[in-house]
Amino acid sequence: MEDTPAKPPLSEIEPEDCVGVDLGITSYIHTSENLSVDTLDLSDEYDRYAREQRKLDRKEYGSANWEKQRRKVAQTKRTIKRKVRDYQHKLTTWLVTEYDVVAVEDLDVKPMLETSQNAKNKQDAAWSRFIELLEYKADLHGTHVEKVKPAGTTKECAVCGVKTAKPIWVREHSCPACGHQDDRDLNAAKNILSRGLKQIGAGHSESTPVQTALPTFTPQRVAVDAKRVVEAGSPGA
Ligand SMILES: [Zn+2]
Repeated sequence: MEDTPAKPPLSEIEPEDCVGVDLGITSYIHTSENLSVDTLDLSDEYDRYAREQRKLDRKEYGSANWEKQRRKVAQTKRTIKRKVRDYQHKLTTWLVTEYDVVAVEDLDVKPMLETSQNAKNKQDAAWSRFIELLEYKADLHGTHVEKVKPAGTTKECAVCGVKTAKPIWVREHSCPACGHQDDRDLNAAKNILSRGLKQIGAGHSESTPVQTALPTFTPQRVAVDAKRVVEAGSPGA
């Protein structure tokens, strides 16, 4: 086994090499640099799976035809898993090679309420595997992954910190206290980055560049199609 590279010391990390990643509802990921990457469309694959499953239900249980059909069902299921996995591999590899610090929500503790409402994209429920993969690759590439508390990342204003409740269909963050406006997911990604930076700065006496990287600017939104990630291997230009 090869030696894994050392993670860069915090004092050497530049603010532009840090990113906050919101694990999405409308997009798969939305970064603090305002890059949103689409959810992989697997509706054809799910349709096929449902079709094969219905065929299986019509076969006589335990018969040779049933067994043959059972294998078909398993195969369509594997195809879905493989495509999701491949997508996650591409995105996590891109994140750990592009950045030195990647902050994400610690979704083990997040109630799955919001994502279960979006049940049509079942792969959305695979976030804990996405994070596991991200952490695994971060170790291989010498990248810091900071898991932060997810509570309030959507409500909080990334500029002034005032909390405003917003229902899921409200896509804009518009702060009643300071007037700051952002895309809802971008605002959340900035909060995630801020929390991650505070976390790695904690217990660190000297001031580091990353501690001053708190995001207040709004870069232009870049929307990346899932197809592009699949074909090009990353959402990067
Ligand atoms: Zn504000």
